[in-house]
Amino acid sequence: GKRERKLGDSVAVQLEGVTKRFGDVRAVDNVSLEVRDGEFFSLLGPSGCGKTTLLRMIAGFETPDEGRILIGGKDMTDVPPYLRPVNTVFQSYALFPHMNVEQNIAFGLRMKRMPKEEIARRVAWALELVNLSGFEKRRPDQMSGGQRQRVALARALVNEPEVLLLDEPLSALDLKLRQELRVDLMNLQERLGITFIFVTHDQEEALVMSDRIAVMNRGRIEQLGPTEEIYELPKTAFVARFIGDSNLIPAKAIEPRKVRTSLGDFVLDDDDALIPGQEVLLSIRPEKIRLFRERPSLPNVFRAKVDDIIYTGSENLYILLADGQRLMCETLNHDIQEPGHEEFDYDEEVWVALTPEKLVVIQE
Ligand code: ATP
Repeated sequence: GKRERKLGDSVAVQLEGVTKRFGDVRAVDNVSLEVRDGEFFSLLGPSGCGKTTLLRMIAGFETPDEGRILIGGKDMTDVPPYLRPVNTVFQSYALFPHMNVEQNIAFGLRMKRMPKEEIARRVAWALELVNLSGFEKRRPDQMSGGQRQRVALARALVNEPEVLLLDEPLSALDLKLRQELRVDLMNLQERLGITFIFVTHDQEEALVMSDRIAVMNRGRIEQLGPTEEIYELPKTAFVARFIGDSNLIPAKAIEPRKVRTSLGDFVLDDDDALIPGQEVLLSIRPEKIRLFRERPSLPNVFRAKVDDIIYTGSENLYILLADGQRLMCETLNHDIQEPGHEEFDYDEEVWVALTPEKLVVIQE
């Protein structure tokens, strides 16, 4: 991901052909994947795609109908949750309301009959990790949402799990708090070196935090890869649409590296090779599109009209219309002086250039 971290080759969690049905619904459909040791791994997808069910099977709260789940190389498919080296943090915190912070965090260790001094030492360590030293005697109802989620995190970490499972832990919090906690979670993960499996429907959250992302759709994995690859090289139209704002242009190959579209004929990057006649989709991210007032001597140029301009402070988002097709183009405001990043007006006719290397060919 953006952090460019070096991870070992050892596997923390392995899923082999895991399927879970609820009646006629295949909530998880033949999923195989490997999560590496120390990795920040995200399961990303829309509501109902099966990500929570997959996480619950890793935790042991659900049993797969088919397939195996290995944790640290051991088959855990039929091992109950409390005997797995994993802990889960839920969106809803799931704290005991009648217990104070200290008691909440210590609960699991008490159940394991750990010596008192050891419990005290670990609780202090966990509270320090989540920046809540001094809050020992507070009850959950005396704390903010963000603080409660920190308690939930401390309660999971105090067990020193090999793998921490996080089920949309930030989605009940407001934006500012969410952004703060993102950074805290990333730092914590880096510091502890624990494998994180993070479930979210928020693509930005996944992009910011993860080493690798598995994008799920209807119980299956659409694409799995390093964060940048998921963003830069979507392999399916679903991934291109779900992650970021993609412009998708239907195209038909007329030569191995040339396609015909309603906007004109475009040349592709040297890496792409198509069979003439093949129908594909071209995907290009809004920030990769360049606009010009004068026709530039570049490949893949066409005319478009500025239909709308959305100013967001740091950037301008142009909504363009070309041959009835809507395209989004994003320019950072500090780039305005650069060629290809001038400022344009409503209704202005502009030249659009699609750089061949920035065009992603989606073959489904
Ligand atoms: P969300 O973000 O909304 O929680 P999700 O991607 O986590 O969605 P799941 O909760 O895993 O999706 O649900 C996947 C599918 O399985 C959905 O169609 C859901 O209705 C169904 N499902 C999940 N749990 C059960 C259950 N206990 N009984 C019946 N159907 C279920």
